[in-house]
Amino acid sequence: MLINKNISLKHFNTFGLDYKAECMVRVRTKKEAVALFKGEISFKKPLLILGGGSNILFTGDFKGTILLPDFKGIRIEKKEGRSVIVSAGAGIVWDKLVEWTTERGLGGLENLSLIPGKVGAVPVQNIGAYGAEVKDTIIKVRAISVIDGSVRFFNNKECGFGYRTSIFKGSEKGRYLVTRVWFRLSGEPVLNLNYGSLNEEVAKLGGATLKNLRKAVIHIRQNKLPDPEVTGNAGSFYKNPVVSPQLADILKKRFPQIPCYDDPSGGIKLAAGWMIEHCGWKGRRLGKAGVHENQALVLINTGEASGKEILDLSEKIRASVMEKFGVELDREVVVI
Ligand SMILES: Cc1cc2nc3c(=O)[nH]c(=O)nc-3n(C[C@H](O)[C@H](O)[C@H](O)COP(=O)(O)OP(=O)(O)OC[C@H]3O[C@@H](n4cnc5c(N)ncnc54)[C@H](O)[C@@H]3O)c2cc1C
Repeated sequence: MLINKNISLKHFNTFGLDYKAECMVRVRTKKEAVALFKGEISFKKPLLILGGGSNILFTGDFKGTILLPDFKGIRIEKKEGRSVIVSAGAGIVWDKLVEWTTERGLGGLENLSLIPGKVGAVPVQNIGAYGAEVKDTIIKVRAISVIDGSVRFFNNKECGFGYRTSIFKGSEKGRYLVTRVWFRLSGEPVLNLNYGSLNEEVAKLGGATLKNLRKAVIHIRQNKLPDPEVTGNAGSFYKNPVVSPQLADILKKRFPQIPCYDDPSGGIKLAAGWMIEHCGWKGRRLGKAGVHENQALVLINTGEASGKEILDLSEKIRASVMEKFGVELDREVVVI
């Protein structure tokens, strides 16, 4: 187990914020994690589990211990008819796993190509993009209780997946370290090309194959979203809100162009980015924090912004969306 003191977080969060962590622990094995949580090794509390830091906004130095899960290994566990069960350690970079599976002709993760972060955060966040959500491939998750070091498996249902959320972000928030995730993939993939311009992009690349679909998703993402290596950001700052059909009807009368989508919950999903743009925020700056010029849902660090500046900007945006549309925006990003 590697323990460091007084570490800069600049390269541990995609906003590129240069705060410090009092202590940082890199955990590589189940045994190390169990020993830590059983109290065999003492550490400064509070504890924060950090993957790639791509969905986190730090607003100051972290006066506790940051735990970096470094569980490695991608394995084909077994084949069941057309299904192939693959497991991956929490410390694997998510897109490396997507690349590994698509190269082997295993379908299910390709629409989620190039999403930043590590495998361990994927069930926590229930990541989604281009008409796919990771919950549809996860069979089980192995996690270790931070409270007593006990090891537990959560099946898909027990993960309590919802839109960009799960039990690990809800009732069990902060209580479990995810160490390994099992996915059910398909050896005979049926491609999901229904979203946006995917069909056209794949055709331009020469046809509908798994590898072309991954290439198309990567191409669209690289054109649409800022690269955190160049401009600090954490992807979509807010979730798309789901409102009652009654409120959606009122909004459609007042704003005929407002994008509305049926949500499986029976409510209506609205596009947060569209509302933010129509409040005049797209491309605006407030100090060193800003709203991306092509994607109003993405807040950016234009230089040396502080976490507080980004948070203040996000609160102003929330207030103006509430004032104009009467809709509350929920953050997708975790504020520390
Ligand atoms: C440019 C950009 C584009 C993005 N696009 C998308 C997108 O299309 N779709 C999407 O869904 N998201 C997107 N995101 C958000 C982000 O990539 C995902 O939420 C990702 O899963 C976060 O992974 P991470 O490892 O960086 O987690 P972190 O940001 O490090 O952590 C996120 C949360 O998960 C917890 N956590 C992390 N690892 C573990 C673990 N092993 N065990 C328990 N808890 C853990 C943390 O404590 C924290 O609460 C984007 C972000 C960026 C910067």
